[in-house]
Amino acid sequence: MKPDTALIHHNYQAPGDFVSPQIAVHKASSVFFTDVKAMRERNWLDKTGYTYGLHGTPTTFTLEERLCQLEGAKHCVLLPSGLAALAQVNLALLKCGDEILIPDNAYGPLKALAEVELAQWGISHQYYDPMDPQNLAETIGPQTRLVWLEAPGSVTLEFPDLPALLAVCRDKQVISALDNTWGAGVAFQPFDFLPSSSGSGGVDVSVHALTKYPSGGGDVLMGSITTCDDAIAKRLKLSHMRLGFGVGANDAELVLRSLPSIRMRYLAQDESCRRVAKWCLQQAAFAQVLHPAVTHSPGHVHWRDLCAAGELANTDVHSGGAAASLLSLRFDPTISDAQVDRFCNALQLFKLGFSWAGPISLVVPYDLSKMRQHAPTELMQGGFVRLAIGLESSDDLIEDLAQALATIG
Ligand SMILES: *Cc1c(COP(=O)(O)O)cnc(C)c1O
Repeated sequence: MKPDTALIHHNYQAPGDFVSPQIAVHKASSVFFTDVKAMRERNWLDKTGYTYGLHGTPTTFTLEERLCQLEGAKHCVLLPSGLAALAQVNLALLKCGDEILIPDNAYGPLKALAEVELAQWGISHQYYDPMDPQNLAETIGPQTRLVWLEAPGSVTLEFPDLPALLAVCRDKQVISALDNTWGAGVAFQPFDFLPSSSGSGGVDVSVHALTKYPSGGGDVLMGSITTCDDAIAKRLKLSHMRLGFGVGANDAELVLRSLPSIRMRYLAQDESCRRVAKWCLQQAAFAQVLHPAVTHSPGHVHWRDLCAAGELANTDVHSGGAAASLLSLRFDPTISDAQVDRFCNALQLFKLGFSWAGPISLVVPYDLSKMRQHAPTELMQGGFVRLAIGLESSDDLIEDLAQALATIG
C-alpha cells in the first residue's frame, strides 16, 4: 500500500469502549455498510442502524431521543432552525386545497410563510382569535386540515385556554400543532396536559425552536418537531428525507451540551423576569405589563391552570409555576413613539436584537398595528416593546430600565 493510501485506510482502530459525559460529535456524509446485503436492506426509518449522514448519526439520534424525553414525545426530527421546523410541519401534512388556521398572535414568520409560499401552493389560511375557543370552532371549515397553537402569543403573550382549543380540534378531527418554544418542555408537557376526564394526552405535533432554551447560548439555530403519533411521525420523516433537511453535528453537540441545564436556566431566568415584571408594574410609564404570571395579564388564569396547577395567586406576579423569560410592555399613550425609541436606544445591558433565552437580555420595539387582526383596541394604544430576560442579575437589569426611563421622563 502506498503511503497516501495507507494514511487514509489506516489499520489503527481506536478502542470502541470510550465512555464520557457527552456523546461524540459524529460527522458524516457517507456511512459504511459491512456488505451489499446490509446496504440493500438499509432502513433509516427507525434508529436501528445508519445509512447516510443526513438520515442520522449517533449524535443526532441522541439529541432526538433527549428531546423526546424533554417533551414527553415518541418521535423527533431535527431542522436547521425553528422556523424551518414550523415550515416542515406544513410541507409534510398539507396539500393544495387544504386550509390551515393560525392564531392571530402567532410567531410572525409563520404568518408570512402562510401568506406567501403556502398561498402560492394553493394552501389557504385564516387567523383565529386564540382567546376565544368558540371563534376557533366557528373558523374551522371543511377544508381545514391543521390548526396551529401557540401558548402564549409570541409578542403580546396572551395565554390561551389550550385545553379548550385542543378540545375544539379534536371535536372537529383536525390535526393540532403547537409552537412549544415558550413552554420548552419545562412549563407544561405538550403531549400530556389535558385533564384525564377528556381522555388525557395533548397536541398531535409540537415544534420547538431549539435556538432558544435548549441552546441557551444565543449561538445556535435549530428546530425540532416531536410527536407521539406513529402515522404523523412517518409522514414527517419521509417528507424530511425527501426535502433533504438535516443539522450540523457541531450544532447538535452544542444543544446536547446545554440540555442538562435547561430546567435550571429556565427557572432562573423565569425568577429574574418576574422580578423585572414586578418593578415594571410600579412604573407609571407602562400602561400594561404583559406576562402570563402577572395577575391582570390576558389569559393569566389559563396559564395558572396549565403551568401552576393548584397553586393560588396571592401577589401581583404569581410566584408559582413556570414561565419563560419574556415580558412585554405597553407604554402609556402619552409617551410618543420617538420617546419609546429613545428608551430602547438608552438601554445598555439590554441589546437590540431578535430571539431570546440566551445569556444576554434583549429588547425589541414592535408596531402591533401591522401585526394583528383580532386584538383588543386597548392593546394598540401606546408604544410596545418586548423584553427577553437573560442571565444577568435582575438588580442590574432593573437599574438599566430605570436609567433608560429617566432619559425620556
Ligand atoms: C424564535 C422562534 C421561532 C423560530 O426559531 P428560529 O430558530 O429563530 O427560526 C419559532 N417560534 C417561536 C415562538 C420563536 O420564538
